[in-house]
Amino acid sequence: MNTYDKGLMWFRRDLRAQDNAALYHALKVCRQVWCVFVFDTDILDALPRADRRVAFIRESLVELDAALRALGRDHGVEGVGLIVMHGPSVKAVPALAQELAVQAVFANHDDEPAAKARDAHVFGDLAHAGILLHSHKDHVIFERREVLTQMGNAFGVFTPYKNAWLKALTPEHLKAHPVAQVASTLAPVPTTWAKPVPTLADIGFEPTNLSQLPLPTGMSGAHRLFEDFVERIDRYDETRNFPAVKGPSYLSVHLRFGTISIRHLASVAYQMHLKGLVGASTWLSELIWRDFYHQVMANFPHVVDKAFKPEYDHIKFEHGKHAKELFAAWCEGRTDMHNRLRMVVASFLVKDLGIHWQWGERYFAEKLIDFDLAANNGGWQWASSSGCDAQPYFRIFNPVSQSEKFDPQAKFIRRYLPELAGLPDAAIHAPWLAREMELISAGVELGKTYPRPVVDHAVAREQTLLRYAVVKKPGKTPASGNKAAD
Ligand SMILES: Cc1cc2nc3c(=O)[nH]c(=O)nc-3n(C[C@H](O)[C@H](O)[C@H](O)COP(=O)(O)OP(=O)(O)OC[C@H]3O[C@@H](n4cnc5c(N)ncnc54)[C@H](O)[C@@H]3O)c2cc1C
Repeated sequence: MNTYDKGLMWFRRDLRAQDNAALYHALKVCRQVWCVFVFDTDILDALPRADRRVAFIRESLVELDAALRALGRDHGVEGVGLIVMHGPSVKAVPALAQELAVQAVFANHDDEPAAKARDAHVFGDLAHAGILLHSHKDHVIFERREVLTQMGNAFGVFTPYKNAWLKALTPEHLKAHPVAQVASTLAPVPTTWAKPVPTLADIGFEPTNLSQLPLPTGMSGAHRLFEDFVERIDRYDETRNFPAVKGPSYLSVHLRFGTISIRHLASVAYQMHLKGLVGASTWLSELIWRDFYHQVMANFPHVVDKAFKPEYDHIKFEHGKHAKELFAAWCEGRTDMHNRLRMVVASFLVKDLGIHWQWGERYFAEKLIDFDLAANNGGWQWASSSGCDAQPYFRIFNPVSQSEKFDPQAKFIRRYLPELAGLPDAAIHAPWLAREMELISAGVELGKTYPRPVVDHAVAREQTLLRYAVVKKPGKTPASGNKAAD
């Protein structure tokens, strides 16, 4: 790579000052480097005014700014920090690059279609001004077309992808980028830009309840969560499906915004996997699912608007007033963000209520703090059976048996639905089937303190099998009423 007098590091979904590929390369090849983050109004304008993701980013930027300052100080450079701008990135970044008279801008890859369009725009404007844009892989271990089938095609099935992923892995893929070793080239922020990170109010947002959640922010928060998780990673395979148990890592929002390095996580998990720890192997598989969905989006970008399998676009989902009422009822369910629950509620929306998976996908995109286009789209297409390596269409979760199986003592239900807490374990998973005496003594009044069911699962199941008949392949049809794995 060329060397430059001046460079600009543009942070996006990589909010950390450790093991950051683009930051490392910028510091290594430039004599002076400034760092910028843009609160991009092209993204922010569409969000609700109280949005925990924006609050999470803001808190994480405060820590990133302090970390850069400390790195500079360690190398005897005072006044280093993060320049934070507010406006459309497509204008802000080229303008700042020209103001600082840099020769190159450095950023990490972002393969979401909107991000690619943004980067192409910025690339063009920078090139026009004679400035280069260098971008690096950082967000995943393998990206784009790095892991392919023997025929040279992108994978659409997970298990062979995972096997190829593990086979392709070398120590080089997990090696950290030692930012601190090259940080002497961090440059002091020019006085016009030397301001504290803007508050939420400064960028037109309202306070959220983020600080009340058990979700620490920034690099330090991510590392605390990971240290805590490593203590119980060996039990991950047994605990991960039970929403009332502290089983998973709770790191998804940190992975989304890059406050922790995927190389670090994968490296720890991989070493434990080599030692035969089943929990670590299972967790490593989840990190590989993450890479898998990212490569699906990069190689099959049509998934953003359409089913991965085209025949699934012919399914006639419910529509009109009734569909909107059912959807509104579904939206009001207030639960945690656990993967098992996402699978169950997604299946319920699509296969019990007959609502198009894209409605659910959009709703999650608005509400999830860890919303990630590739994983969210992959999860919804999996649940609706339209995705690559999705569950078969005739696999329809029974919400009551899922609840009995994964929350057997109803700890999760009692925590989030205190109105049902007084029901015995045997009745709490399906209150509408409880005996009258049980309901009365628990103070539950169906239709008043707790809603009546909006659908009958058995009927909905049959309707879904009919609805999905358009995708049947000859010879692969399950008999109607087949209870496949629900
Ligand atoms: C309908 C639906 C929508 C989803 N939407 C999102 C989303 O917007 N953002 C998101 O990060 N995950 C999404 N997932 C995947 C999964 O539910 C979350 O990653 C997981 O619940 C996050 O909790 P955790 O960090 O404790 O995960 P852990 O169990 O500790 O897993 C570790 C990491 O692996 C990755 N991972 C785990 N499972 C998956 C998966 N199935 N697909 C892709 N990556 C995975 C995540 O980055 C996660 O943080 C969705 C799943 C479904 C079924």
